[in-house]
Amino acid sequence: MGQVSSKLRSAEDGGFFYWCQGCEEMHHVNAGWAFDGNLDAPTFTPSVLVQTGHYAPGWKGPDCWCTYNAAHPDNPSGYECRRCHTHIKGGIVQFLPDCTHNLAGQNLPLPDLPLALTDAADSSGSA
Ligand SMILES: [Zn+2]
Ligand SMILES: [Zn+2]
Repeated sequence: MGQVSSKLRSAEDGGFFYWCQGCEEMHHVNAGWAFDGNLDAPTFTPSVLVQTGHYAPGWKGPDCWCTYNAAHPDNPSGYECRRCHTHIKGGIVQFLPDCTHNLAGQNLPLPDLPLALTDAADSSGSA
């Protein structure tokens, strides 16, 4: 789906993708989130909670991405176990203290999309 501002890409489900500085990956809000219509300084309600691996609801161990990665240091899964909990208000990302990454507790501007994830990168054909 297309890029709709320097910070957002639209999703097929009516929501958006944006870049998370804490997780260094795209996060997704679907049409179930309230959006204030500001593409450059968005507000999404309610908060966004991303939980992977053993942080995910209903996870049943003992095997996990973190244990796999620990057992295969030379060939890790490429996934990490992580919890990322943010409020996005007026283009500011409030990383709540329960995030597992090192931006927990910080308030930072929603970043521009990395160049590789913009439509400019698509049209140039470069990776
Ligand atoms: Zn995140
Ligand atoms: Zn884990």
